[in-house]
Amino acid sequence: MNIEYTPKSDFEKEVRDFCDNSFSGIGNFHIHGDRAYTRRDKYYAHHGVSVDDIARRTLPEKQRLTWVLHKGPGFTSECIEERMRRLLEESIRFGVRKMYTTIDATHNTEFKSLEIAEKLKVEYKGRIDLFIGAYNPSGFKDSDPRRYEIFEEAARRSDFIVGLAEKDRKDGHIGERQHNWYVLQLGYRLGKPMQFHVGQENRPGDMTTETLLSDLEFLQDIDLRVSPERFPQIDMVHVISSSAKPYDEFLNTARRMAERGVGIVCCPRAASSMLQDFSINAPIHNSIARIWDFAVNGVNIRGFGVDNLDDIYVPASSPDVYDDLEDAANLLRFYNQRILAKILCGEPLDPFDVGTIQRDLFSK
Ligand SMILES: [Zn+2]
Repeated sequence: MNIEYTPKSDFEKEVRDFCDNSFSGIGNFHIHGDRAYTRRDKYYAHHGVSVDDIARRTLPEKQRLTWVLHKGPGFTSECIEERMRRLLEESIRFGVRKMYTTIDATHNTEFKSLEIAEKLKVEYKGRIDLFIGAYNPSGFKDSDPRRYEIFEEAARRSDFIVGLAEKDRKDGHIGERQHNWYVLQLGYRLGKPMQFHVGQENRPGDMTTETLLSDLEFLQDIDLRVSPERFPQIDMVHVISSSAKPYDEFLNTARRMAERGVGIVCCPRAASSMLQDFSINAPIHNSIARIWDFAVNGVNIRGFGVDNLDDIYVPASSPDVYDDLEDAANLLRFYNQRILAKILCGEPLDPFDVGTIQRDLFSK
């Protein structure tokens, strides 16, 4: 085994043996690496808040504080580099061989994170493959063209691009659908794969997944007249709210995703730690995407991700993406080590795997 510590259980040992001996090595398919290890008061003190104050806030309120982090001591080039190096070293120790990290490219940070990531990508080649994803968590405004210029330059230099449409819902921003439309067109023009954050709220009324699918369908079929096979790969990150919907609606979404070749990145610790609104009635479920239901309906499960590491979003986390696998196994009650290891390595499931899932979880 390539890792420097003892697995905590026989279950873990078996999964890791599959990853090392049968598949291509563990992957962390979604992490905000330039914000890792920032859950420290010193990075927010200049705004007069502590990380404990922030912990009680909702996801949109936390998202609104990203600029505070960006304008403080946590986002000097030296600090970003020190934290990203720690992330890479610790990930390697836990057996991670490939990592897809977003880098914030906003009007406040410009290319600081991108430059560090570019440097580390070259330096760590051979130890861990680093894939860089351009991300603007501040959203877009027509009154501020610089935001587009920065994002497009970062997108050109990155391996993939990342969207979060709900950030552009509020007044003064371009709008949710316009965000989808803009990122999808940019990704197509540049030929870059895309990841979109959707379905984060775990409530039946959350339509972000379905809206993105409608926008994608319209863009491919009507606007560009391009088949899904000739469009860059699109993966949706989270997709939790689909679990809170009536099952026929869920199946319809899965069918539409399969038709477009849209995959899912599942971040179990981030998903299960989302703020839950207990005033809403919904079918019983755990706060995570139903990845096995998606898989048997033809959707590609791209891999697991850590998402947020020791920051204000997910404080209790680690670079060991195996721990996310264990959470997914328990939350969805599926324990086939070989299939879980395949997802952990980002390998597509074959018809035999899908048949196994079908038999173990869905046959009476
Ligand atoms: Zn994310």
